[in-house]
Amino acid sequence: MKDRLLAIQKRIAAAARACGRDPLTIRLVAVSKTMPADVVRQAIEAGADILGENYVQEAREKFDALHTYDVAWHFIGHLQSNKAKYVVRIFDLIHSVDSLKLVKELDKQARKVNKVQPVLIQVNIALEGTKSGVAPNETLELIEMAAQYTHVSIKGLMTMPPFFNSPEKVRPYFAALRELSRKIDAHNIPNVSMQELSMGMTGDFEAAIEEGATYVRVGTAIFGERY
Ligand SMILES: *Cc1c(COP(=O)(O)O)cnc(C)c1O
Repeated sequence: MKDRLLAIQKRIAAAARACGRDPLTIRLVAVSKTMPADVVRQAIEAGADILGENYVQEAREKFDALHTYDVAWHFIGHLQSNKAKYVVRIFDLIHSVDSLKLVKELDKQARKVNKVQPVLIQVNIALEGTKSGVAPNETLELIEMAAQYTHVSIKGLMTMPPFFNSPEKVRPYFAALRELSRKIDAHNIPNVSMQELSMGMTGDFEAAIEEGATYVRVGTAIFGERY
C-alpha cells in the first residue's frame, strides 16, 4: 500500500513539474469505495490524507470506524437529495453536485448543523446519456442560482469524462472543463470561487494535471482492482 501510494505521489509531482506547476497545488483523493475500513486505515497510515467515497451508507460505516484520524473525507458519487443530511455531517467536500434541488437540500441540512458546505459542480462534459452531471451550457446558470444559498459554498468543477484507453483521447475533455471554469470565473459571481478542478483518475491523471487539475481522484492504482 505504502509503495503504491508513494509511487502515485511521485508521478503527480513529476507531472506537475513537467508542466511548470507547483506539485503542492495538486491534491490526491484516494478513492476507497468498496474497500473495507481496515484497508482504508492502512492507506491513511501510509499517508493518504483525503479519502474519496461514492456510497453514503458505506461511507458512514467507515467514517464511524475511522473518524479519529485527521483526514479529509470527500464525497464523489452520485448523490440523492434524501441523503443530504448524512453527507453534510461527514464530508469536507462534495464533488458531485449537479442540480438546484440538491443544492437546496444541502443548504437546508448544512444550516441545521451550522456549517457552510463546500461543493464542486459536476459537469457532464461530453453530454453522455449515462452520466450524471449538469450540461456544460447549463452550468453557469446553475451556479448563479446556487450562489444564493449561503450554507453551500461552490469551489469549482468536477468531471468524469468518457472512458478511453488512451489519456490523449481524454485530454480534450479536461481542457474543456478548464475552459468552462475560466469562463464562469470571469463572471465574478459573489459567494463562488472557481479555484478547484477535480479531474483525472488512475488511467489519465497525468494528462488531467497538465490540463489544470487541482484534485485527482485515484482508486485502482492505490488499492488495486475493486470487487
Ligand atoms: C471510482 C472513481 C474514481 C477512481 O477510479 P480509478 O480508475 O479506480 O482510479 C474516480 N472518480 C470517481 C467519481 C469514481 O467513481
